[in-house]
Amino acid sequence: MRFNYPILLLDEKGKSYLIKGNTDLHTKDGVIKKEELIKEIKKGKGVGEICKIVRTHLGKKFFIISPNIIDFIKKSKLGPQKISLKDCALIASYTGISSGSKVVDAGTGSGILAMFLANIIAPEKLITYEIRKEFAQIAKKNFKKAGIKNIKIKIKDIYKGIDEKNLDLITLDLQEPWKVIKHAKNSLKFGGYIVSYSPSIEQSKKFFDSLEKEGNFYSETIECLVRNWDMKIVRPYSGMLAHTGFITFARFLGCEK
Ligand code: SAH
Repeated sequence: MRFNYPILLLDEKGKSYLIKGNTDLHTKDGVIKKEELIKEIKKGKGVGEICKIVRTHLGKKFFIISPNIIDFIKKSKLGPQKISLKDCALIASYTGISSGSKVVDAGTGSGILAMFLANIIAPEKLITYEIRKEFAQIAKKNFKKAGIKNIKIKIKDIYKGIDEKNLDLITLDLQEPWKVIKHAKNSLKFGGYIVSYSPSIEQSKKFFDSLEKEGNFYSETIECLVRNWDMKIVRPYSGMLAHTGFITFARFLGCEK
C-alpha cells in the first residue's frame, strides 16, 4: 500500500513522527532540517530498504523508516470509542480473511477497524456503514491521511438492510447488533462470518441468543486479554488494559437442504 505520509521517523524508545518530508520538523529534541532529511533519503536504496538516520540540531537520532498501516492507526484522530488492535487482530485471525475477501463493516466510527481490515483485503474494497455524518468525516480524514483508497463509507443505517451480497465477513461495532442478523442471512456467503464486538456481555448474550434462535449459525464468544511485561524486572506491569470488549463470531450455515 502507498501511504500519503511516506516517512516515519522513529527514535530508540518508540517515539515517532509520521511526515511527508516537505518541511522542517520541530520536535522537543530539536529541529530536523528538511534539507538534511532529503539528503539522507536520497542516499543509496529507498526508505525502508537500508538503514537511514537523521539527527536534530541538538544531536538526537531518528531512524527513517517506511510506515505501515499500524503506524497510521496509532496516530489516527479518534471520534467515538475505537476498537483496540488486539481485538482487530482477533477478528482477522479467527475469520481468515485475506486479499480479495468481501467485507462490510458497521459503524465506521473513527474507521480504525475499517482501515485494519481494508489493508488485509486490498485490492478489494471494504464497505463501511455509518449513520452519523460527523463521524464519517473523522474517518474520511484518517483514510485520507493514510492514503487508503479501498474503503467506501455509506451514510446508512445498517439495521435497515445491507446492499452488498456474497460477503465473507460482516463486522459490527454498534449498540444493537442482533438487528443485523436477518439482513446478514441475505448477504453472507455460505460459510461467511458475522462478527460483533460489544463492550457489554449483556449485548453479547442477546446477540448470541438471537443467532441461536435464527438457527443458521455456529457461534462462539471470546474475550482477549493482553498483558505487557516489564522485561527489566521480569514481571507483568501492575496496570493493564483490563477490559475492551467481547467478540462473538458466527459462521453462516444457512441453506435450502
Ligand atoms: N469500530 C469503530 C468504532 C465504532 S463506534 C472503529 O474502529 O473506529 C460505533 C459507531 O457506530 C458510531 O460512529 C455510531 O454512529 C455508529 N452506528 C450506530 N448505529 C449504527 C447503525 N445502525 N448503522 C450504522 N452505523 C451505526
